[in-house]
Amino acid sequence: MDFAHSERTLALIDRLNRFMRDEVRPAEQTYASELGGSADWRQWRQPAAMEALKASAKQAGLWNLFLPDAEFGAGLSNVDYAPLAEIMGHSFIASEAFNCSAPDTGNMEVLLRYASAEQKAAWLMPLLAGEMRSAFCMTEPDVASSDATNMQATAVIDGDHVVLDGRKWWSTGIGHPHCRFVIFMGLSAPDAAPHARHSMVICPLDAPGVKIERMLSVFHGYDEPSGHGEISFSNVRLPGDHVIRGAGRGFENAQGRLGPGRIHHCMRAIGMAERALALLCERATKRKAFGKTLIELGGNADIVADLRMAIEQARLLTLKAAWLIDTQGVKAAMSEISQIKVIAPMVAQKAADAAMQIHGGAGVSDDFPLATLFAYARVLRLADGPDEVHRGVIAKLEIKAQQRTRAGT
Ligand SMILES: Cc1cc2nc3c(=O)[nH]c(=O)nc-3n(C[C@H](O)[C@H](O)[C@H](O)COP(=O)(O)OP(=O)(O)OC[C@H]3O[C@@H](n4cnc5c(N)ncnc54)[C@H](O)[C@@H]3O)c2cc1C
Repeated sequence: MDFAHSERTLALIDRLNRFMRDEVRPAEQTYASELGGSADWRQWRQPAAMEALKASAKQAGLWNLFLPDAEFGAGLSNVDYAPLAEIMGHSFIASEAFNCSAPDTGNMEVLLRYASAEQKAAWLMPLLAGEMRSAFCMTEPDVASSDATNMQATAVIDGDHVVLDGRKWWSTGIGHPHCRFVIFMGLSAPDAAPHARHSMVICPLDAPGVKIERMLSVFHGYDEPSGHGEISFSNVRLPGDHVIRGAGRGFENAQGRLGPGRIHHCMRAIGMAERALALLCERATKRKAFGKTLIELGGNADIVADLRMAIEQARLLTLKAAWLIDTQGVKAAMSEISQIKVIAPMVAQKAADAAMQIHGGAGVSDDFPLATLFAYARVLRLADGPDEVHRGVIAKLEIKAQQRTRAGT
């Protein structure tokens, strides 16, 4: 395994760190002040601070870094991109500034790999340019969606059209003022094999029959201006050329967005853990109680040491998964991808929790980003598959591997 940063990555790390220090961090407060704070998503506006950051990042060549394709993206491997995603994880507004935020990144990867030339021109190019945003609609309120084969919403092929019906929720990004389309997953062939039943369809948000019913709250907030929505699709009739790669290929297409997307989430989670630990250390070494700094009290130094060890382990495991994807493909990395999807959010949650504790009452207020970090890490243990589902994958692969070892194959 070789996790050494290439010359190019080292240069990008340096430029990204400087951009974070000089432009992103200083813009955080302005960005927050430009959010309206309304629970009504129709009032949400894109903060001007974000558009300014995006323009500046694009000009600096810090744009679409997530995309391994050299023609449309930065052409970085997963190992190369991992430290950059970690740096972005230090700020909630960084990913969008560099056009590297979910769910657009996953949608761009799917469109780049599988979309037709016309679909690319209409939907991929504006996403790559940061001119529009998108959502991904798989999860449904009425079925346990951690088992994706449960999906009930339909995408029925009717002559040269496709008709969408059903209800989706937790569609992240649907409330963003720039969101123009969703990638909808729906049942097309109920009698086919379980993984050949569903299709992926590009559905413009203004298509007749699409209705955003509400935004869901996450720990009392709405994640303005992106939001997570519940949407109904009622007899939404679209030209057949909106299906990606043909009917029944939804699950095949979905594989394209899974592996690398999870690496991105995990590296950002590690960045979040680093930020929480940095805040913890700063507070614990400055503030005094009972005649000593907080770090000298009780087991607080052990907490710092334990977090440092946990973060290092999570980072190395994530890099291993990234390296496996780069060298042997997503399939060979399935266990490691699931391992980091369990580990990285858990470490970030633990770090945020410990940092909140050291900050006392201030830790749970919005004077520090810790409560937001905590909520974000907690949510990551559900989004993109709950921990238990990933543990199931790890155990299944482990048993198979052990059986192969015993059989000497
Ligand atoms: C903030 C946020 C953003 C999201 N963004 C998106 C998005 O953009 N697009 C999208 O389509 N979805 C999105 N999701 C949905 C997310 O992927 C689902 O919530 C997740 O897959 C779980 O599905 P579910 O909510 O139906 O839970 P269920 O399937 O009902 O599962 C509930 C619980 O059952 C248990 N469980 C399930 N399977 C197993 C198992 N095999 N072994 C043991 N226990 C198990 C787990 O405890 C699990 O948490 C988002 C979710 C959140 C919270």
